[in-house]
Amino acid sequence: MDLVNLDKILEKEPKYRLKQAKSAVFKDLIEDWQEAKTLPQGLRKELQEHCPLRLEASIFGTPDGPSRALFSLRGGLKVESVLLRHKDGRNTVCVSSQVGCVLCCQFCATGQLGFKRNLDYPEITDQVLFFARLLKKEKQKITNVVFMGMGEPFLNYDNVLKTIEILNDKDGFNLGSRHFSISTVGIVEGIKKLAEENFQVNLAVSLHAPDDKLREKIMPINKKYPLEKILDAVNDYVKKTKRRVMFEYIMIKDVNDSDEQATKLAELLKNIPLSFVNLISYNPTGIFRPSLPERIKRFKEVLEEKGISVTQRYRFGQDIAAACGQLAGKR
Ligand code: SF4
Repeated sequence: MDLVNLDKILEKEPKYRLKQAKSAVFKDLIEDWQEAKTLPQGLRKELQEHCPLRLEASIFGTPDGPSRALFSLRGGLKVESVLLRHKDGRNTVCVSSQVGCVLCCQFCATGQLGFKRNLDYPEITDQVLFFARLLKKEKQKITNVVFMGMGEPFLNYDNVLKTIEILNDKDGFNLGSRHFSISTVGIVEGIKKLAEENFQVNLAVSLHAPDDKLREKIMPINKKYPLEKILDAVNDYVKKTKRRVMFEYIMIKDVNDSDEQATKLAELLKNIPLSFVNLISYNPTGIFRPSLPERIKRFKEVLEEKGISVTQRYRFGQDIAAACGQLAGKR
């Protein structure tokens, strides 16, 4: 939906019309302007013509399991997002912020696509709206939005933050800022900027290796932002915001999953307050294999023995090829 055009069309109208229109789109989740009964008929027609609400996307997956949506963007590009339905009633949408990614992490399907362009904020917002409309039909709601799909969110900082601002709006979608999470590979400028924002969003940092040598090998961006720089920025972020930070660690067989590496990781993180490690089963997308469950269990034990808090996330919809940083736009 062209949110920029919406603002433009409603510029000439009294201010409350924009509020009404946004409430219809983000609160009532209308799919056709004719449903926006608070707006005069003429305006509804104009909006129908110049700001259609239809979202171009195809959906894959099972109705009660994770669902993947493939969005068609201008210029024929495609981008993916995933809806995860949790057993406790939460519904998380994992959105993409870029088409492809410039950072080329070796284990990531998106990185293998190359970079096409940043998504603008209406394109990111649409991914959430699409699933919100879907869930509305089941009398359910989106409870969390995570920026963990295609792309590095901090390389598209302004559009990501604008999306959060729009979805956080009390008169519209009204999703509390603590229900947003941004996952970064450790773009230090982004971490610093986020610490200054009023939004209390969650920060996740993808480490995936306990030392610079290995990290540089599997994540080339480590040359620019080595672990020490990232952890300094996280330390400042925690001091400033008093918010917990999650360190993501994808478990890759015989690459980063030994006891020795767990010990190194614990040593690295022992002085970072309010942090915890999230161990993620790897979705095989190319050259690497996932760690065996017993290995992950042992890795977790070593971390815990050293006083590190650990959570373990189940696979992010492996059957539909969806995972943190692993969406690929296969179709
Ligand atoms: S893991 Fe994230 S940052 Fe790395 S290539 Fe994939 S999308 Fe880009």
